[in-house]
Amino acid sequence: MVLTLLFTLENDLKTKHYLEQSTAEDLARKVWLIIEDNWSKRPKDYSYQQPKIYGVPRGGVSAAYLVKNASFIGCSVTLNVDKADYIIDDIIDSGATKKRYAETNPDKLFLALIDKTDEFCEYLGEWVVFPWERAEDADAPTETIEENVTRILQYIGEDVKRGGLLDTPKRVAKAWGEWCSGYNEDVKQHFKTFEDGSEGCDEMVIIKNIPFYSHCEHHMAPFFGTVTIGYIPNGRVLGLSKFSRIVGVFAKRLQVQERLTTQIAECLMEGLNARGVGVVINARHMCMESRGVCQQGSETQTQKLLGIFKEKADTKAEFLRVAS
Ligand code: ZN
Repeated sequence: MVLTLLFTLENDLKTKHYLEQSTAEDLARKVWLIIEDNWSKRPKDYSYQQPKIYGVPRGGVSAAYLVKNASFIGCSVTLNVDKADYIIDDIIDSGATKKRYAETNPDKLFLALIDKTDEFCEYLGEWVVFPWERAEDADAPTETIEENVTRILQYIGEDVKRGGLLDTPKRVAKAWGEWCSGYNEDVKQHFKTFEDGSEGCDEMVIIKNIPFYSHCEHHMAPFFGTVTIGYIPNGRVLGLSKFSRIVGVFAKRLQVQERLTTQIAECLMEGLNARGVGVVINARHMCMESRGVCQQGSETQTQKLLGIFKEKADTKAEFLRVAS
């Protein structure tokens, strides 16, 4: 119990240092140079042999293979400490492990990639996490969306350790999941039920100013506005709430306004088997208004007309008059 507490305390106090693979390889090369130097000074009958190294379980085993890879004349890793010429560990922390091995193998050099008993060790006061330990470390940075958000924060010059930003990567990841939830939605599910009483309804139905929020695919910047939908039924009418759901399926993706307009129109035309569909979108684009040419407050309008909305001039005119 006390041990666990102490361990946790120590773990919390030290900042974690995630060692890069290349740094670990550099450290292994330094260890190899010590071995090579030591090996060359041995009595001559040893010189034609390769040194055998033993890795202290568990971290030392990975370290030993790194040293083997760094060796010029070659060396072999043995799993039997009695047959080894050198003992390798990943880190000498308190020195207790080294001391234990020194008692049973006094003639063998005990080497580590990092030696914290050395007062000049650059990792003093840090909790070193080796590349082979990362998979087990819940806090280890991986190529997650959160990690990439952290990189963006660094890119824009933020201090990622600032209090207000600590949970930001997590929040951003969650928000993007919602903003782009349309990829995982099947629009067909919204056409399953139709309203009763649609018999004989052949007048134009218009649903005006459905709000939408989307993101442009060129900048991933918000664009938002309203969608106005008109259609002339062919025996099927849809509940009004379904229209904003259908708009959401396509808006909650990376989009360009023209495609968003077309997708909504074509989907309704097919799903309703309508005689005609018209869609008009008015939107403001943050990528245009807040950067570059900064055309503030300007709206972009797009239209898509299908069926008799396209074919019959008076139907088209009637819809566009109401929609704009
Ligand atoms: Zn854009």
